Amino acid sequence: MRAPESLSQLRYVVPDLAVRPEPVRPLDLLLSSRVLFALLWHEPARQRVLKPAQQAMVTIPIQLRIGGHPPAPGSLTAIARSRGERGAKAGLTMLSFCGLAGLVAILPPHLPWVLASVGSGFYFANRQWKSGYQVQTFSGSCPRCGHELTIAAGEKVRFPMKLSCYNCHHHPVATAAA
Ligand SMILES: [Zn+2]
Repeated sequence: MRAPESLSQLRYVVPDLAVRPEPVRPLDLLLSSRVLFALLWHEPARQRVLKPAQQAMVTIPIQLRIGGHPPAPGSLTAIARSRGERGAKAGLTMLSFCGLAGLVAILPPHLPWVLASVGSGFYFANRQWKSGYQVQTFSGSCPRCGHELTIAAGEKVRFPMKLSCYNCHHHPVATAAA
């Protein structure tokens, strides 16, 4: 394209340069929307400040085991999640994913999206229901190599709990020490 020679010509050139917006496709809209984010992470509370004072905080001595090595001690401070809370969160999770299934059902090829949404709903709802503790602090080291193990604060866990050692790449299993 020829460069405009004067300002008066510029206005004839600019309209040609105007970028036409891409037509909005429903999938893009859905994926970019905060709705999806809210559905999948209806609990951005993972890192939100917890309110320990209102919750039942427990300190649990634990044992970390890997076959063939002596067990290592550790400690977990966590909020005990009540049956009511776990049930409510599990129900809410399932509801969210069913809502998502309803939304994605309009997109071809329909069925796989619905199955994926409902399947994910079951998976995450089950996790909500079975995770009896929400981690506050954790200390413990790998029984095999002695490397310090970590669990992110806010993580929901249950016993027995499989951990990953990022040093020796083995998976110690934590159980509550009797
Ligand atoms: Zn290790």
